[in-house]
Amino acid sequence: MSKKSPFKNYLEILSESAKILNLSSSILEKLQEPQNIHQYEIEISNGKKFNAYRVQFNNARGPYKGGIRFHPEADIQEVKALAALMAIKCAVVNIPLGGGKGGIQCNPKELNADEIQEISRAWVQKMAPFIGPRQDIPAPDVYTTPQIMGYMLDEYEKIKGKSLSGVITGKPLELGGSLGRGTATAQGGVYILLDYIARIGKNPEDLTVAIQGFGNAGYHAANILHSHGFKIVAVSDSKGALYSKNGLDPQLVHSKKLEKGSLKNIYCEGEVCDSEKLMSDGVKVITNEELLECECDILIPAALDGVITDENAENIKASIILELANGPLTPEADDIFEKNNVIVIPDVLANAGGVTVSYFELVQNIQNFYWKEEEVQSRLKEIMLGAFSDILNFSTQKKITLRKSAFVLAVERIVKAMELRGRI
Ligand code: GLU
Repeated sequence: MSKKSPFKNYLEILSESAKILNLSSSILEKLQEPQNIHQYEIEISNGKKFNAYRVQFNNARGPYKGGIRFHPEADIQEVKALAALMAIKCAVVNIPLGGGKGGIQCNPKELNADEIQEISRAWVQKMAPFIGPRQDIPAPDVYTTPQIMGYMLDEYEKIKGKSLSGVITGKPLELGGSLGRGTATAQGGVYILLDYIARIGKNPEDLTVAIQGFGNAGYHAANILHSHGFKIVAVSDSKGALYSKNGLDPQLVHSKKLEKGSLKNIYCEGEVCDSEKLMSDGVKVITNEELLECECDILIPAALDGVITDENAENIKASIILELANGPLTPEADDIFEKNNVIVIPDVLANAGGVTVSYFELVQNIQNFYWKEEEVQSRLKEIMLGAFSDILNFSTQKKITLRKSAFVLAVERIVKAMELRGRI
């Protein structure tokens, strides 16, 4: 069986890292469980009830940091795994933050705008004692937006009776958000990808890209890569995927998706598709699973976890995988790619641009002084490429994958901070 719990996947790579670092079992144990779990049931005015979580994994390197997702699968196991990955991610890019994650188990597609606002405020009412600019700083994640961060900020400041904009990042610009935060997850990954292909002597014009997921990470990645000259051959959303060997224009596809409601609806009504239009645009409607296995050089999973397993890894044709989603590959898939010489740029590095610009947002909020977009971009690029270079060198030296290399460097930093605090 291939699909394991994402938390088990974390424990597996953690223990491999501990072995490489020769950590004692008592130290390993401290890294296996979160420091705090806050779990409540929230209820909104129409009587609907939801599970709400905040997992605070580790704060040895700084306040807990990480997003909140609204998703039917956001249960405690998933949120715990994502919180652990945040602690690793912040250590990978060496920003002074720990790791946490939150969630509300709900289907936001079945909730109206008022209900979304109510659950956002209800989450803050429960979590307000545990979050704060120097305590724990949430942010957007799957199906949460700058608008939701705005509601949460407002609720928190109402409870505390003062302005504390650094309590949450990924806010709208008007409420103290940072320039560059919206595109940061994708942009950080693109900086690394451009650096990597230059190292192997390739040009964007010669490379095709398939992207699973057309949300914040996937859509911006498609757009930025397209502007660099990569050919975007496939994109998808939760309803299905579009493939074109001649390449798609992400902006055009995005505006049509907004008009029709989904990518598939651009060409189909229900299961009936307009074959003439498909033919004249040179497009095929495929499934999300088919997208992963399509003909391309670079595959970017930018949606949910656990989508690439030992059941489909052998069929994947890409030679480079850039993980913009959190946890899209199982450890078994990782082993298959290692054996097949497929390069995997791991989530804890590839998508760390988001939290890095969140850190810049926090710094700007604390100083109440805002940076120009160029300053955000040049600092983001420096951090991403610095981290990539360290991870690449360590992986070459130790003959281990980029994921193991990133984990070992991050675990070493977390353990050092715990030691210096006398926690271990
Ligand atoms: N949700 C994003 C992530 O998984 C961003 C977290 C943040 O900005 O704190 O990295």
